[in-house]
Amino acid sequence: MSAIIIDGRAVAARKREEAGARAGALRGRGVIPCLAVILVGEDPASLSYVAGKEKALAEAGIASRDFRLPRESKEEELLAVIRTLNADETVHGILVQLPLPSHIREDAVISAVDPAKDVDGFHPVSVGNMVLGRKGFLPCTPHGVLVLLREQGIPVNGAHAVVLGRSNIVGKPLANLLSRKDVNATVTICHTGTGNPKIYTREADILIAAAGRPGLVTADMVKEGAAVIDVGVNRVEDSAARKGYRLSGDVDYGPVSEKAGWITPVPGGVGPMTIAMLLLNVIEAAENAENAKDAAAGLYG
Ligand code: NAD
Repeated sequence: MSAIIIDGRAVAARKREEAGARAGALRGRGVIPCLAVILVGEDPASLSYVAGKEKALAEAGIASRDFRLPRESKEEELLAVIRTLNADETVHGILVQLPLPSHIREDAVISAVDPAKDVDGFHPVSVGNMVLGRKGFLPCTPHGVLVLLREQGIPVNGAHAVVLGRSNIVGKPLANLLSRKDVNATVTICHTGTGNPKIYTREADILIAAAGRPGLVTADMVKEGAAVIDVGVNRVEDSAARKGYRLSGDVDYGPVSEKAGWITPVPGGVGPMTIAMLLLNVIEAAENAENAKDAAAGLYG
């Protein structure tokens, strides 16, 4: 059996069109949806992620404002930029590209962003809302995975989902969202403390790899017919490649695709969904801000 290859680019393109249509409606109300993108330093991977995001924003009719800070910037300088953007009504979302240089506390920076502009969904208020099932911004990669499963028609209700990885930005929120009542999977989380992940992964109807370990998921770890979602993006040395490396997921793609029912490629699987969900979060932030203004005008106008 050969797995159905999940086309993340196609699903993401539909979501980006939706974002574009909603951006058009906002412009019709005189509002230009706008994301502020802050990058500290010049990490090559971060530069490439930021460029990809800004291209997608422009294509959807969302404005972006670029803030580039030198690597040696003090934490307080970054916090001051965030405070200014929090107060700026023309900015609807704020994205601080991670990772930050080690002398800047990521926690302090994430907590400084106004939760109403937290389009990455990393602020403790956003995380709390997510866990409680309240309205709020969902983190883009985990949300993108859920949308991919839904759009592909993969049965999730009652399925056993195994998540490899427990980071704050992927594994933990993904496990949480999958176990929500309206999604209804039974969830197992494996991490570096899991002695033998194969015991669990072999039982998975849905196996999600988000460990950042190329080749981690081998065919013997996968149940016949399972949906395998590869979140991993790893640079693997490859002298034949122009840049000297190629991108690889966490899944041993060839052999696993012979056994799985569905599989996401890397690139072209989860990655495009992350950007699409970011665009939708920016639109939602702009719509929320405008609706709040309209409501206030109705109240006091
Ligand atoms: P991270 O390093 O913060 O977390 C990795 C997690 O995997 C940790 O919780 C660790 O306990 C767990 N882990 C490590 N080795 C393991 C093993 N052998 N078995 C089980 N669990 C193991 O990484 P992250 O930020 O969560 O990212 C994970 C991967 O996803 C990376 O490759 C990253 O580049 C990629 N990523 C992709 C997107 C996207 O849009 N496609 C977005 C974010 C992250």
